[in-house]
Order: sequence, then C-alpha cells, then structure tokens
Amino acid sequence: MEIGFIGLGHMGGPMAKNLVAAGHSLKVFDLVPSAVQSLVDAGAASVASAAEAASEVQVLISMLPASQHVEGLYLGESGLLSTIDRNTLVIDSSTIAPESARKVASAAAEKGITMIDAPVSGGTAGAAAGTLTFIVGGSNAAFEQAHPLLEKMGKNIFHAGDSGAGQVAKICNNMLLAVLMAGSAEAIQLGVANGMDPKVLSDIMQKSSGRNWALELYNPYPGVMESVPASNGYQGGFGVDLMAKDLGLAMEAALQTRSSTPMGSLARSLYAMHSSKGSGALDFSSIQKLFSDI
Ligand code: NAD
Repeated sequence: MEIGFIGLGHMGGPMAKNLVAAGHSLKVFDLVPSAVQSLVDAGAASVASAAEAASEVQVLISMLPASQHVEGLYLGESGLLSTIDRNTLVIDSSTIAPESARKVASAAAEKGITMIDAPVSGGTAGAAAGTLTFIVGGSNAAFEQAHPLLEKMGKNIFHAGDSGAGQVAKICNNMLLAVLMAGSAEAIQLGVANGMDPKVLSDIMQKSSGRNWALELYNPYPGVMESVPASNGYQGGFGVDLMAKDLGLAMEAALQTRSSTPMGSLARSLYAMHSSKGSGALDFSSIQKLFSDI
C-alpha cells in the first residue's frame, strides 16, 4: 500500500518505521531533516513537501504536536484537503482538541474525503514495539477500513465513537495518567524523606493497593527501573509540554461541559509550574523533580 506519513517525531518516527517493516511503501515528510533521514535509512522515500506526501497515496497519516499544527496542515487555501484525492483515507493520530478534530473531519467530509481521529496511548516504547493503543473517532466504515493498517502499529484498536470521540477518550486517559504520575512521585518522595529506599518502596506499592501504570512501567524516580526516562536524565519519552497541552485540552473540555475536575486541574497547574522552571522538554515523569532534590 502507498502511504503518506507527515510528522516523524518521537512517536511518528517509530510508527512509520513499523509500516515500512510491514512492507508498505512510504512517502514521508517532516520539518526536521534528521527525522526524515532516519526514515530514509529505514527504507522510506523522502519528499519535499507535505502536499507531495499526500498525493497519490491510499492512506495519509499525520502525527503532529497540537491542534494548530493539524488545522494548519489540512485547512485553508493551501491546506492538504484542497489537494488530497477523494479516495485517500486520512488518519490523524495527533492528540488535539476534540473540537479541532471534528472541524477538520467535517471539512474533509465536505470534500468527500474520509478522515478519522486516531490518537494513541502507549508512549514511545509502544510506538517502537508496535503495541500502541489506537482510540478512533469516525464512522464504522472508516474504522473498518483503517483497522488492518492500525494493527501494524498497535495492539489494541478501539472505536470510541464519531469524529472527535477518539480525542475525548484520549484526553480523559491522559488527565488520569498525569494525576497518577504526580501522585506516584509525591508518594515516593514521602517515603524517601522518611528513610526508605525508592526501589523497595516502589516494589511494595506495586504489589499493594497504590499500584498503577506509572509505578509498574514508568517509575519516575531515577535508578528504580532500567530503560525508563527517569534513569536516563528524563530524556526522550513524552514531553512535559505535551502533557501540559493535554491537560489544557482536558480543562477546556471540562469548562465546556461544566464538569468538575479538581485533580486534573491541580495536575495541570503542577505541570505548568514544572514547565515554567525550564523542564518543558523533559519526559513527563520528571514531575518527580518538583518533589525531590534530584
Ligand atoms: P514530537 O514533537 O516529537 O513530533 C512532532 C513532529 O511533527 C516533529 O518532528 C515536528 O517537526 C513535526 N511537525 C510539526 N509540524 C509539522 C508540519 N507542519 N509538517 C511536517 N512536520 C511537522 O511529538 P511526539 O512526541 O511525536 O507527539 C506527537 C503527538 O502524539 C502529540 O500530539 C502528542 O501529544 C501525542 N502523543 C505523544 C506520546 C509520547 O509519548 N511522546 C504518546 C502519546 C501521544
């Protein structure tokens, strides 16, 4: 299958590599030349513009940072929706505002183009291993059409509902993740301050009622777990600024529906404070630094 792939960052890069490894022919584009080169080394073809990546392909996938990037790519006079072939299935896997996803999908529908939102969960490790969870918003037919391809990059593929529903589910999940990560960091520091070894404490909590994803797979305290960002200077992984963005999306969704989200609101403030101290590019587990002198 001919596939266009735009946005080859921490997530898009490994996702695109899995499609090449599955035997698909990829035309790739990113604003960062080194990201493109890494895909060319893996066997993809580099093209000079997003429009070229989107032309004469059966499927176009985008994996960009935020709503403004996605709207900028697809909408407006020079946006891709004005040039994409009607038969191209468009999959946007970026995490963006549900409203933005609906806006772009409905602009696509007006032109007869099928588009789904398919944000992912599972982090960079999941992207590399091809075990991501895809959370799809769009029609049943579009979901069925995308399913075989999403399976090449992920293990769990969910249909959340109509356009934008994938983003709603993703935002709820990430708000919970931020709360769990900040809470885990706070609990570990409380133990350390009271004389405990962070690894011993983590092992205990992992097998007790405080057990959660952060403790099990992504411990925020340096040295407790191998191969996680905390043990690598908080490099790579899922950036603090991206988490702060997702928490902002959660707060917007809460305001629009008058939902009460006190824990999410506190987590958003913690991540905003952490970012303002110069940690925006670090992995989100570095929230540990707000609690610990490490
Ligand atoms: P990233 O910043 O590493 O990658 C984004 C890439 O998009 C960059 O390489 C950038 O150059 C490129 N880009 C931006 N605008 C572009 C344009 N107009 N044309 C072409 N390329 C463009 O971000 P990431 O970590 O890969 O995350 C991507 C999305 O996935 C975000 O919405 C994020 O919230 C979501 N996400 C990330 C993770 C994670 O663990 N990193 C996990 C789940 C979801």
